[in-house]
Amino acid sequence: MKGRNFIDGAWRDGELALQTYNPSDLDELVGQYARAGVAEAEEALAAARRAAADWRRFNMQARADILRRVGDALLVRADELGALLSREEGKTLKEGIGEVQRAAYVFHYYAGEVVRHPGQWYNSMRDGHNIVVTYEPVGVVLAITPWNFPIAIAAWKVAGALAYGNTVILKPSEYAPGCAVALAELLEQAGLPRGVFNLLLGEGRAFGQMLIEGVDAVTFTGSTPTGSMIVQMAAPAMTKVQLELGGKNPFIVLDDADLDTAVEAATQGTWGQTGQRCTGSERIIVTKGIHDAFVERLVKAVASLKVGHALHPDTQMGPVANQAQFQKNLDCIARARAEGAELAFGGGAIDAPTRGYFLAPTLFLDTDNRMELNQEETFGPIAGVIKVEDFDAAIAVAQDSRFALSSGIATTSLKNAERFRRESKAGLVMVNAPTAGLEYHVPFGGRPPSGYGGREQGAASAEFFTELKTSYINHGVI
Ligand code: NAD
Repeated sequence: MKGRNFIDGAWRDGELALQTYNPSDLDELVGQYARAGVAEAEEALAAARRAAADWRRFNMQARADILRRVGDALLVRADELGALLSREEGKTLKEGIGEVQRAAYVFHYYAGEVVRHPGQWYNSMRDGHNIVVTYEPVGVVLAITPWNFPIAIAAWKVAGALAYGNTVILKPSEYAPGCAVALAELLEQAGLPRGVFNLLLGEGRAFGQMLIEGVDAVTFTGSTPTGSMIVQMAAPAMTKVQLELGGKNPFIVLDDADLDTAVEAATQGTWGQTGQRCTGSERIIVTKGIHDAFVERLVKAVASLKVGHALHPDTQMGPVANQAQFQKNLDCIARARAEGAELAFGGGAIDAPTRGYFLAPTLFLDTDNRMELNQEETFGPIAGVIKVEDFDAAIAVAQDSRFALSSGIATTSLKNAERFRRESKAGLVMVNAPTAGLEYHVPFGGRPPSGYGGREQGAASAEFFTELKTSYINHGVI
C-alpha cells in the first residue's frame, strides 16, 4: 500500500508518521502513512486550482466513463478493500464489503449524473428574449471525512464533486486513511487528469484554516463541535460550507407495533456497525402498553449479539474503532449509571482472544430524556429506553433534543406513522425500519446542529456542488 499523499497526479514521499492498528487486534499494524503538512496542502490547492479550468470543460462522456471505471474497480476489489476497512475501522467483514460495494454504486450513480444533470430554459417577458438557467461547477472542493464510513462518505463527496465538474482535495480521517489511499489509486488508474483529485493525510489541523480559506467549497462530515469550528474558519472568506454532523436519533415503539419488526429495527438501528453511525438509534422511546413485552424481547436480542474480531465470520458486532472512542463510551456508561439509569445488559469491556476495543452492547432501562445519556451523542453501542404514557408524549420526547438527523417509529397504524412523519423535525424519517441504513439516490442530511448547508447524495447534492447562472438572451426573433 502506498503510504503517501497524492498531489498533482504524483504520489509524494514523506516520513511515515501515522500508524493505524487493527481495533480487533492491537498487535497488528495495518498501515503506515505520511502526514501532510502546510507545504503539501499549498501544493494540492495550487494543483486543484490549475486543473479546474480544463476539468470543467472535460468531455462529458469521458468524465462519466472515469467515474464508472472507478465504480467497476471498487466492485472487483470489494472483498480486499472490505477486509482492509474492517481491519482499520473494526466493522464486520460483511459490513466492510457492503460499504465498499455501496461506494461503487455511488460512483456508478454519479457517472449517470454527469450526463443526466439538466439546465432550465424559460420564456421571457421581453419579446425576442429567452432565459437559460445553468448549473456551473463551484471550483475547488475540499472534502473532510470521518472514520466511521471511510470509503462510502469519501465516495459520495468525491464522486459528486467530480461529476458536477469540480476538482477535489480529500482529507480523510487520520484513524482510517487506508481506503482513501486505495480510492486515490483507483482514480489515477481510471485516467483522471493530474490535479483533479488530491489526497492529504493526517489530522489536518496544521493546514485546515489555510485550505478552507483557499478553496471554493468545503463538504465536511464529522462531529458537531468540529463542524461548528469549520463554519467559523470559513466565515472570513465566506467559503461555501456543507456539514453532516452528529445525531441523537429517537426510535419510537407504539403499543400497536408489530413486536418482531420493532425489536429487529431497534437492534439493527442501535447496535449495527457497533453503534458508530450518525443515524444510529440512541434513544428508544416506548409507550407503556407494549413496554414490558418489548423490553423483554430487546434484552434477549442484545444478549444474543456475538461480539468479536471483525474478520471472524460469526461476529455480528465488531470492536469500537479507536482508543478515544472506546474511552468515551466507557465514560458515557459510567455517567449514565451515576445518573441513575438501570443497566439491563452490557456496561463494559469484553475479554477476547486478541487485544482489542471490545465493548458489550449496552442497554439502559428506566431512563429519562433529560439525562446526559439521552442528550449527548454517544456514537457507540449504547442506548437508553424511555418509557412514556402515550403517542403524544412519545413525540414530545423525540423532539426534545437539539439534534435533528434521523428518527424512526414502529407502528401498524398508517395514521400514526403519517402523523410522526409530518411532525418529526429530523431530516430522515423511518417507518418500521431502523433509523440507520440509507440509499444513495435520495437526499441525506438533517437540520442544524445535525446538518448545515444543504443535503448530500441523490440529485440534491448538485445544489451544493454547483452554482446557478441565469442568462438573459436577446435572440431577436419574436
Ligand atoms: P471529527 O469531527 O473528530 O473529525 C472529522 C474530520 O475532521 C477528520 O478527518 C478530522 O481529522 C478532521 N478535522 C478535525 N479538525 C480539523 C481541522 N482543524 N482542519 C481540518 N480537518 C480537521 O469526527 P470523527 O470522530 O471522525 O467522526 C465521528 C462524528 O462524525 C460523529 O459525531 C458522527 O455523528 C459524525 N458523523 C456524521 C455523519 C452524517 O452524515 N451526519 C456521518 C458519519 C459521522
